[in-house]
Amino acid sequence: MIEFNGKSVFEGIAIGKIKILSTNNISINDNKVEDINKEIELFNNARIKAKEELESLYTKALNSSSEKEAEIFEIHKMMVDDLDLEDLVLANINEGYNVLFSINTAKNEIANMFLSMEDEYMQARSSDVKDVCSRLINIISNNSSNYLLDEDTIIMAVDVSPSELVSFDKDKLSGIVTIAGSTSSHMAIIARSMSLPTVVDTGIVLNKVYENKICIVDGFNGCVIVEPDNDVYNVYKARLDKLNKEAEMRKKLIGRENITKDGKKIDIFCNIGNSKDVDKAKENDASGIGLFRSEFLYLESSDYPTEDYQFEEYKKTLENMNGKTVIIRTMDIGADKQAPYFNLPKEDNPALGLRSLRICLERPEIMKTQLRALYRASVYGKLKIMVPMIISVDEVLWVKNMAKEVRNELKVEGIAFDENVEIGIMIETPAAAIISDDLAEVADFFSIGSNDLTQYTLAIDRQNQSLDKIFNPKHKAILRLIKMASDNAHKHGKWCGICGELARNFDLTEFFVGIGIDELSVSAPYVLRLREKLLEIDSTKTDISKYI
Ligand code: PEP
Ligand code: MG
Repeated sequence: MIEFNGKSVFEGIAIGKIKILSTNNISINDNKVEDINKEIELFNNARIKAKEELESLYTKALNSSSEKEAEIFEIHKMMVDDLDLEDLVLANINEGYNVLFSINTAKNEIANMFLSMEDEYMQARSSDVKDVCSRLINIISNNSSNYLLDEDTIIMAVDVSPSELVSFDKDKLSGIVTIAGSTSSHMAIIARSMSLPTVVDTGIVLNKVYENKICIVDGFNGCVIVEPDNDVYNVYKARLDKLNKEAEMRKKLIGRENITKDGKKIDIFCNIGNSKDVDKAKENDASGIGLFRSEFLYLESSDYPTEDYQFEEYKKTLENMNGKTVIIRTMDIGADKQAPYFNLPKEDNPALGLRSLRICLERPEIMKTQLRALYRASVYGKLKIMVPMIISVDEVLWVKNMAKEVRNELKVEGIAFDENVEIGIMIETPAAAIISDDLAEVADFFSIGSNDLTQYTLAIDRQNQSLDKIFNPKHKAILRLIKMASDNAHKHGKWCGICGELARNFDLTEFFVGIGIDELSVSAPYVLRLREKLLEIDSTKTDISKYI
C-alpha cells in the first residue's frame, strides 16, 4: 500500500484502476536498425490499431456527444492512411532509422509544413498531424492510447488539460490524480462539475508500475492510496456507499424552494460546459443555467465552431431547460483554455494577455458568429447573454452595438429572434468591480467571476500550484469588491449573481444572502447542497461586518 497527498479539487471518493496518461516523454533516439522489414511491420500494425481505436472513439462520441465532436476521430482515421505521412515514414525507415524516429521526424516535418501555411484552417491541421502521429508512437511504445478507458478508471498524469478532460469517456472515468496542477484551474472546475474525485499537485513521480493497480482517491482529505490493504479498502468502500446514500437522500429537496428560514428567496442556477450538461442541471433541480462556458464548444472542436453548429447547441440547451433562464457566456478562450487553431501568440503572461473578449475585439467576426447563433437560438427559451473579462464601459457598448447589428441583419434576413435578450457582464476584474457603478448603467446584469476576480485582485496566478495556499477567494478585498458590485447593480435596478467557485462556499452563503446577491450559480453536484444550506439560514441574524 502506497499513500501520498495532494490538494483536493472535489470532495468525493473514487475507487478504481489506474491508467497512466502518457506524457509524450517516450524516449525517441535516432538509432539505426538492421531489420527494416520489422520496422515497416510495426508501422503498419500500429496504423491498423490506431484506426480501430479511432473507429471506436468515433462511435462512442457519436452516441454520447455530437456529430461535430465525433467528426474529428473520422478525420484522424483518414489521416492515419495519409500518403504523405506514409511516404515520409517509409523513406526514413528505408534509410535505416527506427520506426519511432521515422514517425516522429515525419510528424515534425508535416506539422511544420501546415504551420507555415497562410490559411488558418490549414495551420490548425498541424495539431491533428501531431495527435495522429503521437497515437502511432504510443501504440508502438505500448503506451496505451490516452482516451480509451476501461470501467472505473482513475487517470494519473503529470497534468490534464481541459481539452483532454472533455475527451474522456465520462461514464468510465472515476477519478483523477495529477502530479502538478492547481485547484483553481479550468481542469479543476470541469472535474468538479463532473463530480470527479480529484487530487492535484501530489508531487509524486509518475511511475509506470502503478498502471492497472487499484487506487482510492480521497477527495475529502486530498489523499491517494495505491494498492490499499483490505481493511483500508473496506473502510473506503463503506464511505463510498454512505456518500451515495446521502446523495440519494438529498434528492428529497428536489422541488423545494430556494428560500431562507426568514423567507428570502434567491436563484440557485447551474454552471455547464455544453448542451449535454443540462441533464445534470435538471437532475439536480437547478432553477436555471447561470453560466454556460461556451468556450468549451471551441475546446471540443478542431476548428472554429460554425454559426450553425453553435446555434444547434444553444437551441438544444434552451429547449431542454423548458423556458428557465439560460445565461450563455460568450467565448472565453485564452490563458489555460487554449484551442490551437486560434493560433494565439506565445505570451509571457497569458492570463494578463490576449484572452476572451480581447480576442474578439481584434477579430470581431468571432463575436459576430457567436451572437448570430445566440440570437437565432433565443426564440427557443429564455436566453441571457453574458460577456466575460470586461474592464471598461466602452467594451460593453462595443458588444451591445454588435448585438444591435446582428439583430438588424437577422431582421433583414427574416430570421426570428427574441428582441429582449438581456446582455450582462461578468465582474471578474478589479477594474470592473471598481467602475461597477458606471457599468451598471449599460449592462443588464452582473455575474461575479470570483475565480478571476481573486486572481487579478490578489495578483496570484490561479494556475500556479505553489501559490494555492495564499489563493484566498474569501479575502476581504474580494468580498468588499463583491459587495460594491452588488450594491451598484441594485442601485441601478439591475440584478447581481455569482458564478465563480466562491458561490459554492457554504461559509459565505449567509453573507451573500445578506448583501442581497440575487443568484448563485454552481456546478451540478452543489445545487441541492446549496439549497440545503439556504434552508438553514436565518438572514436576520447575519452580521455582514464580520466578513468585510
Ligand atoms: C470566474 O472567473 O470566476 C469564472 C466564472 O470564469 P472562469 O472560471 O471560466 O474563468
Ligand atoms: Mg473567469
